[in-house]
Formats: sequence, structure tokens, C-alpha cells
Amino acid sequence: FKTPKPTNEPVLSYAPGTPERAALQKELKELKSKEADIPMYIGGEEVRTGKKIRISPPHDHKHTLGYFHEGDASHVEQAVNAALGAKKAWAEMSWEHRASIFLKAADLLAGPYRARINAATMLGQSKNAFQAEIDAACEFIDFLKFNAAFMVELFHQQPESAPGMWNRMDYRPLEGFVFAITPFNFTSIAGNLPASPALMGNTVIWKPAYTQVYSAQVIMEVFKEAGLPDGVINLIYVDGPVAGDVIFNHKDFAGLHFTGSTGVFQQLWKTIGQNITKYRTYPRIVGETGGKDFIIAHKSANAKELATAIIRGAFEFQGQKCSAASRAYIPDNLWPEVQKYILEDLKNVKMGDVEDFGNFVNAVIDERSFNKITKYIDEAKKSPLVEVVAGGNYDNSKGWFIEPTVLLAKDPMYATMCEELFGPVLTVYVYQAERYEEALELVDSTSPYALTGAIFSKDRYAIELAMSKLMHAAGNFYINDKPTGAVVGQQPFGGARASGTNDKAGSILNLIRWVQPRTIKETF
Ligand code: GLU
Repeated sequence: FKTPKPTNEPVLSYAPGTPERAALQKELKELKSKEADIPMYIGGEEVRTGKKIRISPPHDHKHTLGYFHEGDASHVEQAVNAALGAKKAWAEMSWEHRASIFLKAADLLAGPYRARINAATMLGQSKNAFQAEIDAACEFIDFLKFNAAFMVELFHQQPESAPGMWNRMDYRPLEGFVFAITPFNFTSIAGNLPASPALMGNTVIWKPAYTQVYSAQVIMEVFKEAGLPDGVINLIYVDGPVAGDVIFNHKDFAGLHFTGSTGVFQQLWKTIGQNITKYRTYPRIVGETGGKDFIIAHKSANAKELATAIIRGAFEFQGQKCSAASRAYIPDNLWPEVQKYILEDLKNVKMGDVEDFGNFVNAVIDERSFNKITKYIDEAKKSPLVEVVAGGNYDNSKGWFIEPTVLLAKDPMYATMCEELFGPVLTVYVYQAERYEEALELVDSTSPYALTGAIFSKDRYAIELAMSKLMHAAGNFYINDKPTGAVVGQQPFGGARASGTNDKAGSILNLIRWVQPRTIKETF
């Protein structure tokens, strides 16, 4: 069996005069012209509670995009019942039909829904057109198409047989429902987290971040239009602890698919552990959490390439990627030149509204995030242990804008070298070029995370040394490239240590978590 051979969705240019730019602008205008009234979707029904929460663009927080209806514990119970009610028929549906639905969703996103999902992501999550295209269109389409192919690949994993018998495996869905908790920073991740367990025959309760509801609703519409049966994915907007209280106490809770903060994930894991005897099955726990992603340069690296990687790795998507570079270790022979290039290049980096195609940096997601990041910047301005090399300004009068900021730490254990800020701030530590090995040890021991990292070097021995010394420091390791921008099917994504369970999003390794394989031995 085969699904259509997946290829990565081409990224459209949005150059002036292109049809995609015109379609996007039309959609942006249309979305801004009205206030959306966004329901939850439980068992295929639109649910409006009347408890409305306002949605505003992070780059223009006085504007109202609309409202969504918040639910309570009773809605979580309804969603659990809907998921359990839909389960049997969905699990028994043949895999071709399940795959077809998600492949059709991919086609709808590539065609008629492309402008809408991108516009909703731009306005709701403050991403410019290029960021939205890479995320909400291309990566999401890729997840859906590649996962269908990976599912079939998984089914082909079959044991050997011997004379007089036929051994085989079938890949049953989990016994119970899956809970997907999704982040604001990638629309594609928000869509993939409920979609991949559903593809494997599970029914799902999906709780997006409140800051991503505006595009989550579009995803749900696409799934519905693609033919997803009622109750397979139930989209709820409920406060985390309220939802958790219902879900983690339910005997049919069978899996958690999570992307978000390390602290929340660890708390959920504890709760699941405390409730373990209540469940029918050991729940699958799959999480992608924080990062403190590094770039380390060897003295042989090219300064210009390094500066470009630092700017793109740290500041694209406002640094709001789990994978974003946020600490760099540069040898003293290279730093003056790297610093010169960084300062030169940053002059051309523009910040502002998402609808201006010339802007590279947009607003951070919300006030809480703005306050957290600017507090670090203010402390850095006062500290003798660190110096502001570039940026450092911010302005919240219209939106949550923070300039791309480069700090230079004299102390390699300074707070911004160790803690995750999740914003456009990178801290550099300059080490003595001859003490490369010690610098590698520093990279490994400074942070509890291990998501992504990059080594820049022209010296193969130095690369080899980095690979071995940093064996466990990154789940995605880049050689002479920025540590961001993993492409589905090319660089399966995920990290270990405090960064997650490393079940590689967009790969067979992720899908296997959503099934219970059954080994069958039949003798003749
Ligand atoms: N997959 C994205 C990348 O490689 C990051 C995803 C995330 O931020 O969680 O840059």
C-alpha cells in the first residue's frame, strides 16, 4: 500500500504583483472588517457559552479581531463523551479513509484556505506573510501529507514468519482518548498535535493556547470541510487546570500530545503519575517543551556566515521558536568581525506591523510575554555582568514590540545565558579561541534543555569534537547552519532533557506513540 508520495509544499514568494499577495491582502482586509464570534466545536456542534474572551492582534492590541466563547468543566466532560462516542466508528474506519480526510485537508490548505489560514495567523499571532506561509501553510500541509505516508511505512513494520505460521502486527489505536494541548507559536504544530493521533485512529480533545484560537478555528473548519466525522477532534477553550481536572481523572485518558512550557509539562506528568492507577492503560506522554538553543563557533568559522545565522536563528519569528538561538559562544579571534556584521545587518532589520511586507520582526505574543522579556532587558542594562551590544529598546504603545537585542555576557552563567526568554534576545559569550573544548563543556552544562544547537567550523576535527562532547545537548544538531527551520520529512524535530520526550514531530517515531501494536501469531 502507498499514499501519494509526499513532497514539501513550495513556499510562495508573496512578491509584489503575485496572485498570492493579492489573495492574502483581500483576506486580511476581510478578517479585519468584522468581529469574529468563535465557538468551541464539541461532537461536531458549535458551542457558544456567552462567556466571551476578546482577541486582539499582538501588534495592534487596541483592535478587536473578535471573541471566543470560553467553556467550563461541563464542556470538557461533553468533549470527553463526544470523543468516546465517536471512537468506535473512527477506529474501525479503514486507514485509507482516515488518510484521505487529512490529505484532503492538506489540499484545502494549499488551495482555497491558504490565504485565510495565513491571514488569521498573521493577525492573531503577529507573524508577517513569510512567517505565516512557512508555518501555517507549508509546514502544516507537510505534516498532514508526510504523516499519511509515515503511517503506511509504520504498518509495513512486520515481523518474520517461520514454517507453519504467519506472524504479524496490527497497529491498533489507543484504548481511550487523546488530549492535545497546543502552543501559540506555530499554527502547524497546533494543527498537527490533534491531527496525528486522529490519523492513527484515535479521537481527540484539543485545547489550543488562548492566543492561537483565531487560527485554530480555521484549522477546525478545514478539518470539517475535509470530511472529519463529528467528535473525532473536539476543540475546547477552557482554562488549563479546569480541563486537566476532568481529563486526568478520567479512566479513558490514554495519551497527552503537548507542546508548551517545561514547567506545565512537568506538572501534568506529575498529575498523570498521581492518577496512574485510575487509568485503563498507561497513557502515552509526548511533549515538546522549552529550549535554550545554542550556536557555538570554532575559531575556523566564517564570521559573515555566523553573523547571518545568529540574526536569522535568533530573531526570525521574533525569537518565539522553541528552536530559536538564544546563546552564542564565539571565539575571541572572530568576535570583533562577527559583531561588526551583526550591527551592520541589524540596521536593515525592520520591525512593525505584519501587513508591511518589509518588516522582518513583528510583535511578541502578549503582554505577559512582553513584560517577562523586557524585565530581562532592563536587568541587563543595569548589570555589570552584561552589556547591551544591539537593540534593547521596546515599545508597547500600539503592540508588544521588542527590538532584536544582542547582549554580551562577561559571565557565562549570566541569567540570559541559562534561562528561556522566548523572545528576540540573544546573549553572546566570547571565549578564548584556544579553549574550545572548555567552551563545549560550558555549552553542555549551562542549561537543562537539549532541543537544538549549531556548530560553525571549517575544521572537521572541531566538528567531530563538538558532536561527541555535545552528544546529548541537542535533539536537532546543525553543522554550519542556524539551529532553526526544521523541514518535515527532512529534519525530524524534537529534543530531550528538559526539552521534551523527543518523539520527533513529523516522523514515524511520533506516530508510533499513538498506537498499541498487537503481535499476532497464527499457526497453520
Ligand atoms: N520546528 C521549528 C523549527 O525547527 C520550531 C518549532 C517550535 O518552535 O516548537 O524551527
